[in-house]
Amino acid sequence: MDKSEKLILAVDLGGTKMRAALVKGNGEILQVINRKTSAEKGVKDLLDRLVNSLNEILAQNNIDRGVIDSISIAIAGAVDVNRGVLTASPNLSGWVNIPLKQIINDTTGIKTHIENDVNAAAIGEYYFGNAGNVKHFVFIAVGTGIGGGIFIDGKLYGGFDGSAGEIGHMIIKENGPKCGCGNRGCLEALCSGTAIEREIRTLIRKKNLAKWVDFNENNIELITARDVGEAAQNGDELAKKVIDKAAYYLGIGMGNIINIVNPQMIISGGGVSRMGDILIKPAIETALNIAFELPGNTVRMVPSSLGHNAGILGAAALAHYNS
Ligand SMILES: [Zn+2]
Repeated sequence: MDKSEKLILAVDLGGTKMRAALVKGNGEILQVINRKTSAEKGVKDLLDRLVNSLNEILAQNNIDRGVIDSISIAIAGAVDVNRGVLTASPNLSGWVNIPLKQIINDTTGIKTHIENDVNAAAIGEYYFGNAGNVKHFVFIAVGTGIGGGIFIDGKLYGGFDGSAGEIGHMIIKENGPKCGCGNRGCLEALCSGTAIEREIRTLIRKKNLAKWVDFNENNIELITARDVGEAAQNGDELAKKVIDKAAYYLGIGMGNIINIVNPQMIISGGGVSRMGDILIKPAIETALNIAFELPGNTVRMVPSSLGHNAGILGAAALAHYNS
């Protein structure tokens, strides 16, 4: 069958939201169902709801499951792709060593693929995004945390155990802020959305600027990275300082990647990267200052073009990548 004519059931399973979709092989999204993940209700409950969502899509579109190419699930957690097992997830409590691929396959009778969500997003860039025909590229997702996927010669580089690509946890600043992984000074601890929020709260407290912009009745715990980005764009000095610092460290991370991987392209995605010019542009300048001449001249630094559907398209892309 022509690749573009495939019908794929794609699932983006995150810590708060579960999105199930019917996607054509060319990346056209035909239907999306949004549900809350509600992981606290337990694994079985969530899997039942996932399968119900897929059945709902089939019923509403009057589609026989026989014409579905595959179910492709991108999930926020560590995935052993070879065994099809979700080994652990910080966002889905209780999800330890779940043979997700087998369970969904057995329950639905449809061939199933699973992959970590950031890796899937990188695969999505390869099939549906800016990395079309680019065989060597690195995808960096800057959001609540920082993740990455390294494509070498048209394949996602997993390393010996499949755990490669932890871009967010390269240490950029010795004795820097503590990271969720236990180390200090990781890229994620310096320029993720969480890091930006922590940094501005620290500065507000230190300088006793409780009235820093009238956010949420001055409850500084509610300030989001997006708020900081908007304030910086509107010329707020404090916010600008925080974003400039985050951009600088992000640039160091990107520069290291350019020198180590020599990619044709670095694609930045994730919610925080949508701050665009105030964050990514200075980060690129720093990265190119660090980069050696040859890889620095070659690399193209581009934003993700997949927007809010990156998760679903990343999942859908697994159907092509694994066929
Ligand atoms: Zn870390």
